[in-house]
Amino acid sequence: MSSKKESGYATKGVGQPLEPFTYATPKLGVHDVRVSVTHCGVCHTDIHAIDNYYGITAYPFIPGHEIVGHVSAIGQEVSDLKIGDRVGVGWQGRSCMKCEWCLQGEEQLCIDIVQSGTWVPYGGFSSSVVVDSRFAYPLPESMPSEVAAVLMCAGITVYSPLRSYANRERQKVGIIGVGGLGHIALQFACALDYEVTAISSSPEKERQALAFGADHFMVSSDEAILQESEFSFDLLFCTASNKINWRLLLNTLKKNGSFILVGFPDVEFNSTDLVAHQLSITGSFIGNRATMREMLSFAQEHDIIPKVELMSMSEVNEAILKVKENKARYRIVLVNNSARM
Ligand SMILES: [Zn+2]
Ligand SMILES: [Zn+2]
Repeated sequence: MSSKKESGYATKGVGQPLEPFTYATPKLGVHDVRVSVTHCGVCHTDIHAIDNYYGITAYPFIPGHEIVGHVSAIGQEVSDLKIGDRVGVGWQGRSCMKCEWCLQGEEQLCIDIVQSGTWVPYGGFSSSVVVDSRFAYPLPESMPSEVAAVLMCAGITVYSPLRSYANRERQKVGIIGVGGLGHIALQFACALDYEVTAISSSPEKERQALAFGADHFMVSSDEAILQESEFSFDLLFCTASNKINWRLLLNTLKKNGSFILVGFPDVEFNSTDLVAHQLSITGSFIGNRATMREMLSFAQEHDIIPKVELMSMSEVNEAILKVKENKARYRIVLVNNSARM
């Protein structure tokens, strides 16, 4: 191979700021493509990984997994993408393709998931990423790149579980948290024909939540309202990662109801409620390849538009700080001004 170089922004250790970092262009496997990055969203998971929250971060670490760019090189056995194609890439950049989960089409549960992140070896805050072509998704032509970037992680994270529970009309769902994930969940839930209540700790989010399509709004700190709402929801969908009132929220679920976590709140609940009301608490992690393709066309058809603030990739540390301080409204996408084809 040539001695080409890529340039990105890496952190050298836990919690350290990102700094310019140059590395040899990774070689392509036979199924791989190189994607020259034009846009990359900043996700909470990037920040967790910088801080080694999951215990799997290898430094120097280049985060970034809400990627849009153009295919700039292809492996020998890639047949369905060509150089120049605009594609999106999400958190998962490959999978083993042979474990029981991959064989069932549930690649997000791949036994090798730790090695399947798009940021292995280096993520999207960079000039390019190398991923398996089967995890690079052609985008609807008219979809703006910053919209597609956010859908690649935040979009699939909320769409996949909302869709799999949408089994009849006007089921009642409470979406907990009106932030980066929540504001997209509200839009998808409305389009999937749920009756949607936005549940937020900030009363000032009401107007925006209704604008994103919520039918109702509830302040999560208002215990009286939560108590009055006993047995209201078929589904609670938690996008929040701060402390939540488990006891009162679980009481708002109908019997046989489900509480789905995509955020990481502290967990504490009384198992009696779970048993007596036959409740389920479950997690959901991104989505499989088939659902990713479906999500992109559903989002296009139903005008799902994440609210995005654009910043330059060279402002990556400022962007991360904004996300950490909860000041992003609602997602930040970094634009790579030096993108090359
Ligand atoms: Zn993410
Ligand atoms: Zn697998």
